[in-house]
Amino acid sequence: MPVYEYEHINAPCSLGQMFDFRQSISDEPLTQCPQCAGRVRKIISRINISCPKTNSELRDLGFTKLVKRDDGVYENVTARGNDSRYMERGKPETIPDLSKTISD
Ligand SMILES: [Zn+2]
Repeated sequence: MPVYEYEHINAPCSLGQMFDFRQSISDEPLTQCPQCAGRVRKIISRINISCPKTNSELRDLGFTKLVKRDDGVYENVTARGNDSRYMERGKPETIPDLSKTISD
């Protein structure tokens, strides 16, 4: 089971201001400290932010990822719909159409 980090919103108890709590990924996040029943909030783990994501995850999150393939040539590995797979310097038509992505 993963370990989640929680923070006391008010005064900390013997667990400390921040503490780790092991729970199932399907459990609801804690709102109360298991020790003192004070209010707590879940801290978004820094690990998740720095964890590399797959290209399809990035695409689903709305990111565009370009990978340099050659001098002035970038592959859009998160190409959506009719996006051009490759971007080439000096060819504006190969730039992903972000306005279309945003309106989707
Ligand atoms: Zn507590």
